[in-house]
This record gives sequence, structure tokens and C-alpha cells, in this order.
Amino acid sequence: MNRRGFIQAIASGVTMMTTRELHSQLSNSKTQKMPVLFIGHGSPMNAIEDNEYVRTWKVIAAQLPKPKAILSISAHWLTHGTHVLSVPKPETIHDFYGFPEALFKTNYPAPGAPELAERTAKMFASTLVDTTDDWGLDHGTWSVLAQMYPMADIPTYQLSIDTTQAPQKHYELASELRTLRDEGVLIIGSGNIVHNLRMLRFDGAPYDWAVEFDHQIKTLIEAGDHNAIVEYEKLGPAAKLAVPTNDHYLPLLYTLGVIEKKDSIQFYNEKTDIGSVSMRSVVFG
Ligand code: ZN
Repeated sequence: MNRRGFIQAIASGVTMMTTRELHSQLSNSKTQKMPVLFIGHGSPMNAIEDNEYVRTWKVIAAQLPKPKAILSISAHWLTHGTHVLSVPKPETIHDFYGFPEALFKTNYPAPGAPELAERTAKMFASTLVDTTDDWGLDHGTWSVLAQMYPMADIPTYQLSIDTTQAPQKHYELASELRTLRDEGVLIIGSGNIVHNLRMLRFDGAPYDWAVEFDHQIKTLIEAGDHNAIVEYEKLGPAAKLAVPTNDHYLPLLYTLGVIEKKDSIQFYNEKTDIGSVSMRSVVFG
């Protein structure tokens, strides 16, 4: 190598090192700790309607850092045992009946996150969690994301809810996922704090017990009293009416399980819809 070549090699070496360092610094600064989201999803029609709830979801999405991936814990994936969806191209599941054709024709073609799903399953030390291809994106996930991220360009996967487990176990399981936030993964619990479909009333006036329970949970979230939220069955008669079955309530426990005390708390859509469905959403962190 002549002198000029040597100098060039040194120079390019320096440049390469500098570029690598820069790249490392940039990628570190880009992987900002992600907030955690609880979304009150309500009717599947929210996927294609324009209303105050979905407009708020869009505002939330615009305020969040762009996620590298999304992990959804949806009220509509109930299983025995806990599973992580590892399919590379998840199907859009139209898991509802009696809605307009337009909703059945709506798809959400976000890519899956197979490698991340495998790693996520292995993060659970307390419980054996496996991956599965036997699901897709159910409407608890895609009806919300179709409004928040309409480009469907963020890898999306789901964690199922094991119906054989007690609320405390769901809360504890979630805590094992905390490091995902540092990787730029947006964890979304999608359900409804108040969800009593047998008592819907379409004149829109919310029941007193629905408003009472929704506010009670808000107050407990603000106070950081997760124990009382986990033990919701002890919260009296309003709780029994608001949470007749806990499928839509449990996603909230997953969001509380991954947050930290220092996370900020912001409430959105503080309304009860069709009498007995709370649309409250919460951004933590
Ligand atoms: Zn639902």
C-alpha cells in the first residue's frame, strides 16, 4: 500500500468508525421508551366510522413516538394457556355478527412480528407461554389500529388472555413484558372498563353504576392502587354490573402490569356509550 492509499485507508477507517458510532448513537436515541396504552374499543364499527372516539385515537397515535412494533392484548382472544401470535402475515379476523358488509370487507394487512413473538414468549419466566399461528388480528386489535395507524405498516402481534387464570396472575404476567417498552414496542390493552352488553340502551344515557365504576377505576389508576383494581370484585354492586364477565376488563390489568410508578397518566374518551360501555382510554408514560 502506498502512502496515499494508507492515508485513504486510515481516513476511511476513521470515517467508518465515526459513522458506526453515529449510527449507534442515533439508534439509541431513536429507541425511546414507549408509552403504554389502554383503549376502550367499543363497537367494531369504530373501525370504519368517523366519531369523537376514533378522532381521539388518531390524536393519541399522532402524539406517540412511532412504534417499531405493536403488541396487543385484546379482549377478543381468549384461550386456555397463554399464547403469542407469531404468524408473519396475520389475517384480519371479522369476529362479530350482524354488522354492515362494509365492515366485513375491511381488512388490516399489517405484517406480523414472528421473531419478536418468539422472543416475547421466552420472556415469561413464571409461566410456559408458547407461540401459535392459529389466530390473526381480531377486531379488538384491528378496529383500533385501522384508525390509529391506517397505513398498516407497523409489525403487529397479539398475546392471548388465559381465561383459566385469576386477575392477579394476568397483572403479574404483564410485568414480565416490561423490557419490550425499551425496544420501541407499543403495548396496547384493548377492552372496556365497563362492558355489559345485556344492558345496552341505545338512547345513550349511561347508567349511574356504569359512570360510578368507571370513575372509581379512574381514581384508583390515579392513586396507583393497582391492588384494588385487580381485586375489582370487592368494589361493590357497581363492579358486578360493570364487569359481568371480565374479558374486556383484563386488558386493563395488562397495561397496569407493564407500567412503572413514574409513568405519567393521561385519560381520553371519558364517556360511557350506549348506557353500559365505557370508552375510557389511558396513555401511561
Ligand atoms: Zn370488544
